[in-house]
Amino acid sequence: MTRINRRTFMQHAGTAAALAVLSRTNRVWAAPAESAELALTGGAILTMNESEPNADAMAVRGGRILAVGNDEKIKALISKDTKVIDLGGKCVTPGLIDAHSHVIAFGHMELKFVIIRPPKINSFATLQQALAEAAKDKPKGEWIVARGFDTFKEGRFPRRKELDDAVPDHPLLTIHWSGQYGVANTAALKKAGLFDKNAKDPYGGKFMRGRDGLPDGVLIHYPAIYAVHQPEIDEQDQIECALWGFDQFVRDGVTCIHDNFCIPKHAKSYVRLERSGRMPCRLRVYPYVVNLEHCQELVKGMQRYEGPLLRMQGVKLAVDGYPLMYKPPPKNKVGELPMHPQPLFEQIIAAIHQAGFQADVHAVGDKGVDWTLGAFAKAAGSVGECGKRRHRIEHYPFRKMDSVKRTAELGVAVCVQPEYIRLKAADFAENFERELVETMVPLRTFTKEGVHVAYGADVPAFPSHSPLDSIRGAMDRKTEKGQTLDKSEAVSFMEALRHHTLGSAYAAFDEKDLGSLEDGKCADFVIWNRDLRKINKGKDLDGLQPQATYVSGKAVYEA
Ligand SMILES: [Zn+2]
Repeated sequence: MTRINRRTFMQHAGTAAALAVLSRTNRVWAAPAESAELALTGGAILTMNESEPNADAMAVRGGRILAVGNDEKIKALISKDTKVIDLGGKCVTPGLIDAHSHVIAFGHMELKFVIIRPPKINSFATLQQALAEAAKDKPKGEWIVARGFDTFKEGRFPRRKELDDAVPDHPLLTIHWSGQYGVANTAALKKAGLFDKNAKDPYGGKFMRGRDGLPDGVLIHYPAIYAVHQPEIDEQDQIECALWGFDQFVRDGVTCIHDNFCIPKHAKSYVRLERSGRMPCRLRVYPYVVNLEHCQELVKGMQRYEGPLLRMQGVKLAVDGYPLMYKPPPKNKVGELPMHPQPLFEQIIAAIHQAGFQADVHAVGDKGVDWTLGAFAKAAGSVGECGKRRHRIEHYPFRKMDSVKRTAELGVAVCVQPEYIRLKAADFAENFERELVETMVPLRTFTKEGVHVAYGADVPAFPSHSPLDSIRGAMDRKTEKGQTLDKSEAVSFMEALRHHTLGSAYAAFDEKDLGSLEDGKCADFVIWNRDLRKINKGKDLDGLQPQATYVSGKAVYEA
């Protein structure tokens, strides 16, 4: 956030006072030189601007905010050409910024994949039934891709033979909700040339094997999944998926999204979509790199594209898939598999840093987070340099105090998913220490220690794209079974809203233009159907909905 220090403030105040005197003495009472194109009056505007948190009215011109203040101030900016919206007491907030989601992938999953999410799919029998149903009308030999499974009553993932029972004649790939694990049937392994005792594990991934030495179908981390099959869609479909995804977001009050697992093809489609004028909201793109060579090549050729709504922002990579922990669960065979050997990981971070880009790292485990912080510090050479680049960590669910303090010191932004609490607590409780689970998504600690916090829904990994679900999780800390995790890590509604607006803006260097409603910033805002000032607990969010979402002063959604 830009802060005006006392001296500059006094200078500004002095100039304003001088101008006021001038205009009084000259008796200039003409209509304002710049009248508003759009004015909102008679509402409750939560600006997220610390120096003027509440206002009644707002004026917009040229896609930006001309003024925010009381009705009287804004009415002075209304001319005969101004479109006036009488808010009738309704609440307005800045547009919400989703700092971690995957728009094309979201559309791709929801429109093109077989959905196998719990609670409907919770046993091998329910899974087999859904897959057999999907195969029924498909020509033999055609790929079937299904995504969304989590845990099964059987207490383990199925193996290829159990998938063969349902789908013997189609190559079939099922993908875990997180995108980190998969299970393929025998036909898929054969088609990929991997039904072989000598099949080599890919970089960063692993094929689990049966007693016979053959891959048993279980695939660990996305390099293994992609080695079997990388679902492709053509450009037309990518555009269709993107438009569908954007539409879901703007309906829920999101005006800017960070896509941080973006393959170069998708990045191109986004650019094309923006140029065609059909992109309804803002997008920050972080192409994903799989290894050092790929990274070196990417940063060399990566264009610093910036359009009115879209910017190539940084480079994404992962340090872990399954959480890389200091104490890996003893029964889990893959708990020690990082995405890159540590020295190579550090070289990738250094390459991104040296090329002048922001590095954005998926890190779930406590050790993964420490590797990442260490790599940032090494690449930057000084705390200040690291802070300037604003490298980020995605997910970071576990609280480890020395890591949190170091995160704040290095100026690293953290993008959390409060939905981890609801959806992952039970799974984590089986594998990790109780205290780590109780304090997961430590928003109070992050805030107190001065860590820059952003929120992202992470669809399609998580099922809900709604920012209100993230905010609810941050306030209530409730698990799927209704237990409440350590309440001392909860934040208030206004704090959560701040994370989801200004905090997310900061994570992509957008705080000068986005995240709060202030003079000169982009006119991205949401009109809500209810008064948000009375929200104290998650339940108060029930029924809350945007009535309209605006980007650059234009309605991109109206109820
Ligand atoms: Zn993600």
